[in-house]
Formats: sequence, C-alpha cells, structure tokens
Amino acid sequence: MPDLRVVLEVPSPRDEAVLAWVAEWLGLRLAIVAPGGGEPVVYRGAQPPEGTRGIVIPPRPSDRLWTDLLSGKIGGDALPARLPFDVIGAMAAHLDDVENRGRQGRDRHDRLEYRSSYTAAHGFGQVPVVNRYLEALGDLVARELGVHGVARWPDGKLAAIALSHDVDRPVKWGALRGFGAARRPALRHLPLYGAKVGWTLLQRLRAGEKDDFWLFEPLVEAEAERGFRSTFLFAPTPAFASRGTPDDVYYDIAWPRFASAFDLIRARGFEIGLHAGYDAHRSLERLVGERDRLMLFVGRGIRGLRHHFWHLGPDEPAALRLHEEAGFAWDSSLAFNDHPGFRRGVALPFQPWDAAMGRPLTTLQLPTIVMDGTLFRSGWGSEQAAAEVGQLIETVVSVGGFGALDWHVRTSLPLNREFRAWGETYVATLDRLAADDRIWVTSLDAAATWVAERRRRIIEQP
Ligand SMILES: [Zn+2]
Repeated sequence: MPDLRVVLEVPSPRDEAVLAWVAEWLGLRLAIVAPGGGEPVVYRGAQPPEGTRGIVIPPRPSDRLWTDLLSGKIGGDALPARLPFDVIGAMAAHLDDVENRGRQGRDRHDRLEYRSSYTAAHGFGQVPVVNRYLEALGDLVARELGVHGVARWPDGKLAAIALSHDVDRPVKWGALRGFGAARRPALRHLPLYGAKVGWTLLQRLRAGEKDDFWLFEPLVEAEAERGFRSTFLFAPTPAFASRGTPDDVYYDIAWPRFASAFDLIRARGFEIGLHAGYDAHRSLERLVGERDRLMLFVGRGIRGLRHHFWHLGPDEPAALRLHEEAGFAWDSSLAFNDHPGFRRGVALPFQPWDAAMGRPLTTLQLPTIVMDGTLFRSGWGSEQAAAEVGQLIETVVSVGGFGALDWHVRTSLPLNREFRAWGETYVATLDRLAADDRIWVTSLDAAATWVAERRRRIIEQP
C-alpha cells in the first residue's frame, strides 16, 4: 500500500501540512508513524534514533534556495539520504510567502512589485522552486522507501494548464452606458468617473460605434474547436454601483446582453466564476453578496473566484481566509501583476497555510503563471510574447506542474485594433497547447475537481 511513512521528531502542524501536500502530489497517502518501526521512513528531525532507515530531513530554519539542486549541480540520483538542505522548511517558507510578506515596494493596489520582491532579488521568478524540491524528494522517496504513487494528471498527461478569462471590459462603451445608471454613493468618485467617461467618449468619437470587445462567441468557438473549455470570471459589482469604485468594471451583468453570454458559456460546457470586485476583500458580507448577485443571473453554483486587479487588500491572509469562510472551492488570485512566473515559487495547486488558525485553508489555490497584460508592458510583439508563454508552459511540464493562464475576453482573439498582438499570442498559445499531447488543457473548476477527487482516491485507497 503506497503510504508515505513519516516520523516527526517534534510535532509541528506546519511540517505535517507540508508533508501532507508532498505526499498528495507524489500520489501517496501520508502516514505519521512512531519511530523505530524498522520500515524505511521520512524522518523529520536532526537526531534519528539508531537503526532509522530512509530519508532524514533536519530542520534548518534559514534555508530557502538550494542552489546546488536548482543549478543542476546535484540531481535526483546523487542526493544523500540525510539531506544537507531543509526542503520541508523551505517549501513552507515559499508557499507562505515568508520572505515577501511585509516587504516594501507595493503599487497602489497593494501588490508587491516584482522588482521589490525577494523572488526578483534572487532571480527565480521563472523557477518553481517548490516543485523542484518536491521532485527531488520524489526521487529520494522512490529510491529509499521504494514506494510509487498514483499518477498526477488524467490520461497519463505530464502537466496541466488551465485556461481562464477575466471579464473586465467586454462592452467597449460600457462606461458611457453605466454612467447614466450611477448610484448616488458612487458619485463620491465623480472626478475619476468623469475622467473615465470623457476618455471613453473620446475613444468612441475616434473609433465609431463599433463594439469589437464582445468576443464571447468566437472565443468559445476557438477553444471548443481545439477541444478545450475555459473559465470566464464575471464581475457583479460595476464601478457605478453603490459599492463600486472607479477601479471596478464598467458593465452590469444585469444588462440583457449578458444573459446570452451566460447561456452560450453554459451550453458549451464552459465555466463561470466570480471576478471579485475591487473592495470585495473588505468583508465576508461583500464577498458573499457578490457571489449571490452573480448566481442570480447565472442561475447555478459559483465555486471559485479571482480578484479583479489581484486586489486582496493590505491583509492578504485575511482575504484568503474569507474564501474559505464564504465556502469557495478554489481561488486563483496569486500572481505577480508585472512579471510572469511563480508568485509563491509553486506550479501546483495548494491550500494556503493560515498561521492564525494553525491549519491550511480548505479553499484550493490555483496559481496563475501569466496574465496577458504582463507580457506587453515592454513593447513586445506577439511572437516574443508567445515564446515567453511557451517557455513558461515548458517549465511547468518539466516539473509535472499546473499553471493557469489569464487572458481577458477582449484580448483573447486578434479581432480588434487595440489588442491585436495580445490576441495573436493567445491563439498561438492555444495552437501550441493543442499540438502538445503531454499537457492536460483544462479549466479552473475542472482542475479543482480533479484535485479533490484524486485526493479522495489516495486517502480512501485500501
Ligand atoms: Zn479584472
């Protein structure tokens, strides 16, 4: 029976949770056992009793980056059974964002800028270090414990990529229409709204009436014909609603046009999630209220979310805790806004650790590895951007990982002048994925469902 037998020298809920995550992704069931059983184990501690067999991982609280491993100087086969590096502590530190927490260098949306991050300082933004440690441990476990777990992804695939679309501006002239419906409390932001409306009006005078941002039909078609389905995240709090802010979206899901988009998305087996509003992180009541409003129009369970602007507010752990309190199955809000790659050093779903509660949250975090706009900040063309996305995907495949792609609806096809290069990049990426049979191309909710079912199989195995 494939168990990952672990001895904890000192009981530690955090170590145990990391080891549970390791076991799960190695396809094994975690079994915390007493020392001295004679069977090979993973021994977490510095002083294994005489006769202990297996792997020894002594705690070394300052370990973060195992450069010999990351540079390829030592590899799977050459690892000693008593590890010179604390992979468990280091995984926890990266997953918990220990080195980035409280760091200066945030933008006006409370987001850590890449250049100010620990990640950038050590140059591993595009290296999923947690996965590299997991793979090294996996090699050791196979060698020293002789156990092999169940496969990670369906149908023998090596990695998973989830397609998702934030619905930010599907109605090109929504600011003009919405302004007329502005609720009184929203008028406190009148100067900012005024600027937005003026700018939109100017665009419209230059471009004419044509709305070429509403791309739901051709986008669903483009993905479906390649055998893919994706997740659309809709924002139920317009900028001009009573709780809206100028940073929220300029459309209302109550507009009749959206009913046809919801119908189409459902009819084709695509998914709908919540694009949580700019201030949704402020309270459980706001977050739940947004989901309820979306469900009112979509008519069925909304299981997951991503925050607009990645805006989790100044207290990220508190915002993540709200996801669990609201009963969300998954969230996909952790990424650098200004850099592609691995925000917490990980390319696999994980349950964020809640230090205040001393346990992992139940809501599964689905890491996003790249958003469209991130790629085009420095004047890139579509070829360069597609190559970068391809490289990221290749990195995810190399560690058997998972990553979500985030393209906005108006930018996912080259059907308007403004986002032509963005759309070309997305189509090239779809073609690349369709031609790669190593990758399970999926959607956010389907990925979360797979993770939960696989976990159940591992735990309930005879
Ligand atoms: Zn957004």
